Amino acid sequence: APSSPGGRLVGDHLRIPVAGEPRRYVDLDTAATTPASEAVLRAVQDFLPWYSSVHRGAGAKSQHSTARYEQAQETTTRFVGADPATHVALFPRNTTEALNLLAFRLGLTRDDVVVTTAVEHHSNLLPWRRAARLRVVDVDRRGTFDVAAVEAALDQRPAPRALAVTGASNVTGWVPDLRSIAAAAHERGVLVVVDGAQLVPHRPVDMAALGIDVLAFSGHKMHAPFGAGALVVPRRLLAHGEPFLVGGGTVRAVSFDDVVWADPPDRDDAGSPNVVGAVALAAAADDLRDRGWVDRLRHEEALVRALDGELAAVPGLRRLGAVSGDRLPVAAFVLDGVPHGLVAARLAQEHGMGVRNGCFCAHPYLTRLLGLGPVEVRRFHEDARAGRHDRLPGAVRVSCNATTSLADVAALGEAL
Ligand code: PMP
Repeated sequence: APSSPGGRLVGDHLRIPVAGEPRRYVDLDTAATTPASEAVLRAVQDFLPWYSSVHRGAGAKSQHSTARYEQAQETTTRFVGADPATHVALFPRNTTEALNLLAFRLGLTRDDVVVTTAVEHHSNLLPWRRAARLRVVDVDRRGTFDVAAVEAALDQRPAPRALAVTGASNVTGWVPDLRSIAAAAHERGVLVVVDGAQLVPHRPVDMAALGIDVLAFSGHKMHAPFGAGALVVPRRLLAHGEPFLVGGGTVRAVSFDDVVWADPPDRDDAGSPNVVGAVALAAAADDLRDRGWVDRLRHEEALVRALDGELAAVPGLRRLGAVSGDRLPVAAFVLDGVPHGLVAARLAQEHGMGVRNGCFCAHPYLTRLLGLGPVEVRRFHEDARAGRHDRLPGAVRVSCNATTSLADVAALGEAL
């Protein structure tokens, strides 16, 4: 694989047939998911003979498993700048499950308001929409909002219970000013919940310094396999109430008419935990930390500029969202007169490039970026309800990270 500061991945040797010839797969879909790193592979291989039940058995393997699980909790908590004395890492399946768990655990009612934004992935929208009333910070034509708009939403009555905001957009790569947003929320006593699915793999995140109360992210977007995400959360938020999932491990005592719930974090760790996934996620966190951020950040900045340059040079290509400000190397666009599905299919079939097309689980954001009016949005819903998939709006997204080479971005420009 061409050189880049992201390190080696387990799939680097794979060759796929492109027009009959075996070719290296060009992964321009890292915002969706990432292959495991070699560091994660080693950690999982070493641990596989040892895994056993956690917090249950008295045997040596069970004790070892328990120790590794607790170590993974601590590593993950520290990795994002939280203090294990006050915070704990749970390992739900992914960001989606983490945010569902949290939205349930805050004990919200339909009278409560949660402030969120039009940038959000559905996973940071639908759990709140179900648990409470949404108050949405809308975006401008550039697909961004400013802190004043967040302040205005926070100041409306009734006062919100929580602010749920993304750390970075999975569509445009835009990185909101979390520090200022969190400060505005805290001045008003509002809990700050950040969807870190995109941010955490790309930037050093310091929850304490940024003022983030709760952070959710996914192992599979940071070079660990599927199956474990993280919810880093103050223990005090989990100290009361019923857990999201109930069952073995969540209790101190059970009878048919009474339950004494366990203390955090066990109360929210129903069933046999995914200890292999936790070890993998912690290994991915250690690997990102050990590699350091300087070279990777510099490379990602170069990727952002390269994407801007390559995409600007393609005739008939319209970028979605602002091509300025703090961004990850992620870009969404439409090509004049060419359906988004066809662009993605031809990049795959003729160039061996994996990109994504569609609405990227962010329908409100995408409809705004595409400039669809209320009539078109209604038609979108009617088509969706009727199962008319061929007519759905959308765009093409390319996304890369520190493992992507500048040559791959140049090849994308050429292919487009
Ligand atoms: N939030 C954002 C910003 C994302 O990009 C994603 C994944 N596309 C998610 C949440 C959901 O992550 P997962 O599918 O791992 O639950």
